[in-house]
Amino acid sequence: MHSGPKEFPTLNSKEKDNLVDELTQYGLANGLIMYPEGFKSFEADLAPVTIFPTPFPRSEFEKAKALANPFSTLYGNIVSEKKWLLNIAEELSKFDPGFTGKLYECYKKAKNEGIAQNVSLALTRSDYMFDTITKEIKQVEYNTVSVSFAGLSNKVGLAHKYLNDSGLYKYGKRYYDEAELPISESPDGLAEGLGEAARYYNNHFADSKNTIVLFVIQPSERNAFDQRLIEYSLLRKFDVRSKRVELAKFTTRTKVDKESRRLYLDNDEVSVVYYRSGYSPSEYNNEAAWDARVLAETTMAIKCPSLLVQLSGAKKIQQLLTNPQILDQFYPLSSSYRKELESTFCKIYPLDGSDKAQTARKLAFEHPENYVLKPQREGGGNNIYKEAIPGFLNSIPESQWAGYILMELIHPPLEKNVLLRNGKLFSDGIVSELGIYNSLLFDENTGMAIKNTYGGHLLRSKISTSNEGGVAAGYGCVDSLYLY
Ligand code: ADP
Ligand code: MG
Repeated sequence: MHSGPKEFPTLNSKEKDNLVDELTQYGLANGLIMYPEGFKSFEADLAPVTIFPTPFPRSEFEKAKALANPFSTLYGNIVSEKKWLLNIAEELSKFDPGFTGKLYECYKKAKNEGIAQNVSLALTRSDYMFDTITKEIKQVEYNTVSVSFAGLSNKVGLAHKYLNDSGLYKYGKRYYDEAELPISESPDGLAEGLGEAARYYNNHFADSKNTIVLFVIQPSERNAFDQRLIEYSLLRKFDVRSKRVELAKFTTRTKVDKESRRLYLDNDEVSVVYYRSGYSPSEYNNEAAWDARVLAETTMAIKCPSLLVQLSGAKKIQQLLTNPQILDQFYPLSSSYRKELESTFCKIYPLDGSDKAQTARKLAFEHPENYVLKPQREGGGNNIYKEAIPGFLNSIPESQWAGYILMELIHPPLEKNVLLRNGKLFSDGIVSELGIYNSLLFDENTGMAIKNTYGGHLLRSKISTSNEGGVAAGYGCVDSLYLY
């Protein structure tokens, strides 16, 4: 047995002030930054960060890393089976016509017009919390579209390492051993996924071999630097150029060759369409945004993600996979890591007409304090927590309930870390969420994996009194790991 983590460093108020100055200038000098609300393009702020690394059990971190490839295999299998996924998507469309329904409709339209490219790239992030009751990591969700903070994760790790190396956590000495503070190589990890996809395209499909990765973005993106770090790595390490276009401008800015179905932006052939957008309904108030999704799907460019990969990230799919018989179909018992994979699942219930749903209804009304209710949405701010669940369910028609899942709450440890946001410190304690990036380049028709690669890690923390953890949304911050 090893002992628990050491305490957070103890600093007097002068040392803490100095630490904040050092962290701020290191962060600004090295790109640990984000645009403020209502920004001008030349002004950036220090991203919200913790001032110390947060303790996390090493063995659970290693387990999460080991599960990176298997989770991609699982979701790759779901996508390439197609039939099951499409049935679920069709069913969900009834309860969520505005979003899941539209994505499904886009897929059907694209399928009608002809899906030109079977090779697909999934850059995913599996999110976990360490649960203090079971003493294991539990999966919060599996993200298959526009996973963020791979860039800033590396920067915050380096910032904490700098503070440690400078003797600012313990006067004149290192407080943490070098090996206790892993630096996430996630900007390179995601760039590698995109770079490999571009290389594959160049070798098999390209006309020019000098193709670009097209970042499809949101207007006024506050988290632009996080994305830029991936672009810079892509150019530096893989010699692949990238360009950016807003989702709603995609159809007017790009051209498709009718014969070859190759996609072009200006004079550049696009090998990979990489969405850092398109995951929330508010982005589609312009019909051109939906058209973009259909158009992209009918081109030769490799999509990251394809509509099917995006649909596989639905919270409903996560719920269904907690059923061992369903999991068997896509990840058989005989597969390695099956037990570990399942050990990360929380209890998640449907709210449809099934027997399980009867139990769930009872739980939701009698013990809402143990649950979170989730719709089929991404990007934060959509879930209903604890005591708010019964009132919410009563406020919508029962026929809509099947669009939601009921998930048992994970109980992460409360840590005495301090959050720094807009120059202010918040010391009420934090809880953390570990993200594990992975990239899967695969054939959606055969399920064959071309490349399945671990892509680095992320720790996000939030003030413990807040239910949600979105960094850009103002709930949380980026953090780094102290492994014990
Ligand atoms: P989104 O797609 O909006 O990111 P998530 O499922 O990740 O939705 O939930 C948002 C946040 O809510 C998480 O980052 C986490 O802080 C909290 N959360 C979600 N599910 C749970 C859970 N089962 N237990 C505890 N906290 C949770
Ligand atoms: Mg999330």
